[in-house]
Amino acid sequence: MRDVVIIGSGPAGYTAALYTARANLNPLLIEGLQIGGQLSITTDVENFPGFPEGVMGPDLMEAMKKQAARFGTNFLAALVTKVDFSQRPFRLCTDEEEIQAKSVIICSGASARLIGLEAEKKLIGYGVSTCATCDGYFFRGKDIMVIGGGDSALEEATFLTKFANKVTVAHRRDKLRASKIMQDKAFKNPKIDFLWDTVVDDIYDVEAKNVRGVKLRNLKSNEVTDFKTDGVFVAIGHEPNTHIFQGQLEMDANGYIITHDGTKTNVPGVFAAGDVQDHVYRQAISAAGTGCMAAIDAERFLEHSEH
Ligand code: NAP
Repeated sequence: MRDVVIIGSGPAGYTAALYTARANLNPLLIEGLQIGGQLSITTDVENFPGFPEGVMGPDLMEAMKKQAARFGTNFLAALVTKVDFSQRPFRLCTDEEEIQAKSVIICSGASARLIGLEAEKKLIGYGVSTCATCDGYFFRGKDIMVIGGGDSALEEATFLTKFANKVTVAHRRDKLRASKIMQDKAFKNPKIDFLWDTVVDDIYDVEAKNVRGVKLRNLKSNEVTDFKTDGVFVAIGHEPNTHIFQGQLEMDANGYIITHDGTKTNVPGVFAAGDVQDHVYRQAISAAGTGCMAAIDAERFLEHSEH
């Protein structure tokens, strides 16, 4: 029986682990499929306070993990596949075992969203990607399309110009959602072009198992054109990783866990922190902040439930 089990290994999870470990709660952190979370597949992080020159995402996550380990966090490289929050102790299942916990902190984050094309699914890893950091290197000297108009799309596009011959950003509206600073950077980059009011309706060539072009549709004129590209990076936002909690925890219409009074969920003893409950700020530093809050909330819950 564990006092605290933390689900997820992003900034929220590691911070919750650090704080609960320092409170002598001997936490177990179940790491999930992508150890280190979204920052483990990022390059430069320039907005995490304390690093005036910036820090590489994977290095930052490794440092957070080490810091949590130093105070006695136990790590389990597994995926939680099922939970039962209907009674205490809570039960969490991985493929290998069932774990019981007096309190749970959910930090399972969010994952990249896809457009939903059949070809997109079939060509992932064959020219379609959701991670420029992971796959950009494969596109040296090539033409690349980035789909999306937010900060992620422009960050990916800018990063990809390190490798690509040309990067074309296809956005479904004529205004970007991205922050002004990212827009300025992208507009100034001579390797980046924009296609406005444009959606991708198909990606060629599933048969050949590689990307050679896309079918584009202009939403204003309805004109359909083929466009040659060697790769497609989908950067249209994220989905919260909450399906295993459905029916047990209150969520909003998009599946984000609803928290109140800090990090409390509707089940006393279950807390949520980071992107899994935050579709607004979604920053490493805000995730780490809520991870800290969840640890303190869990500690207080355990104190009260034992008296
Ligand atoms: P986002 O802000 O939600 O933007 C998603 C973009 O994809 C939007 O432009 C959206 O179009 C478009 N989109 C969504 N679904 C689509 C679909 N089915 N087909 C075509 N286009 C679609 O997501 P994000 O860019 O991942 O950013 C998420 C958060 O992280 C934001 O708060 C952002 O500021 C932050 N972030 C910050 C940094 C940084 O500071 N370095 C980097 C990355 C992300 P519409 O605009 O028409 O809705």
